[in-house]
Amino acid sequence: MIGTALTPGATKVLFCGAGELGREVVIAMQRLGVETIAVDRYPNAPGMQLAHRSHVINMLDGAELRRVIELEKPDFIVPEVEAIATPTLIELEKEGYKVIPTATAAWLTMNREGIRRLAAEKLGLPTSPYQFAETYEEYVEAVKNIGLPCVVKPIMSSSGHGQSTVKTEADIDEAWRISQEGGRAGAGRVIVEGFVDFDYEITQLTVRSISGTIFLEPIGHHQVNGDYQESWQPQEMSLKAKQEARHIAGTITAALGGQGIFGVEIFIKGDKAIFSEVSPRPHDTGMVTMISQNLSEFDLHARAVLGLPIPPIDFYGPSASKAIVVDGNSSSVSFDIKSALAEPQTDVRLFGKGELCGHRRLGVCLARGKDVNEALDKVMRMREKVKVEL
Ligand code: AMP
Repeated sequence: MIGTALTPGATKVLFCGAGELGREVVIAMQRLGVETIAVDRYPNAPGMQLAHRSHVINMLDGAELRRVIELEKPDFIVPEVEAIATPTLIELEKEGYKVIPTATAAWLTMNREGIRRLAAEKLGLPTSPYQFAETYEEYVEAVKNIGLPCVVKPIMSSSGHGQSTVKTEADIDEAWRISQEGGRAGAGRVIVEGFVDFDYEITQLTVRSISGTIFLEPIGHHQVNGDYQESWQPQEMSLKAKQEARHIAGTITAALGGQGIFGVEIFIKGDKAIFSEVSPRPHDTGMVTMISQNLSEFDLHARAVLGLPIPPIDFYGPSASKAIVVDGNSSSVSFDIKSALAEPQTDVRLFGKGELCGHRRLGVCLARGKDVNEALDKVMRMREKVKVEL
């Protein structure tokens, strides 16, 4: 049963994190009459502009998080970012709150160590070789053991923050410095991973719902400094690689449990699939599903969370997305998207981010084509045509 928003019987969903991905889930939920509450660390975040109510708090502060959740008493708590006081979510879950997909999944995936140990050591999934390090000395030792080239990342970070590749011995000190400045929790523990010389990388979106586990068409993507630039769907893959990727995605999502969508990041070399990481929520590279499918990753997440069925998905055809990333400083950004939208089978989303300070993703170009290359050509052209005024 879905109660009506803003009535005593409302079905209420509280979003921890209200960026562009959360915003789309807010829209999907509102189409189903759900009451939405957006929480983030700054006012007017993209999802807050649409939600019924919002709260500005530091979500890493457990007491603050508990205060807001006890005030709102949501039916579902939907984490949209990793930086949340997940031990508090675990307590709240024990007290009867429903956390998506589960509080333990949010806790394990917040930290690269939790998820890597689960995938490699407990589930036996193929991963890059890795070692964790707490201090500079341990780090140097880890680099020696893993060998060059290797990738260094703070255990709590995302979007490439604090991440770098050590190619030669001369990079060792610089990579440590970067890792100690770029992590979410400040200085501290890192993972040193063997560099995987992959042919391509994919996001295997996987939905767990009352209709069972569904694998979406694989999404290929191009990353620069750990930040996604373009994504496309479907990524062409050998049957064996596709099956291995689905096996990895099925295994890790079953271990995390609960219901919702998961973005499983996998490297592919020949026919071999290598697990990289997983987020129990919609994935930025999955924004392409806003044009490629009848139900986007956001619609699918909403359905899975609410316990609704997911019949076979209509895939509309080869599609691509390109992030609109802007550099500069402004608190009044405007866009001219007229010529970008002139081609058929295209769309643009602007996220409504009011503050630009440095480097920020402000929107996305979407297109379908007769094949992935044509769709990619279209989004590249579209991005060229989007004029941004600061
Ligand atoms: P992550 O934040 O772990 O998803 O890393 C961001 C991006 O960095 C990935 O999508 C890859 O393009 C690249 N990357 C991360 N780890 C490795 C690795 N061990 N070997 C090669 N490339 C990597």
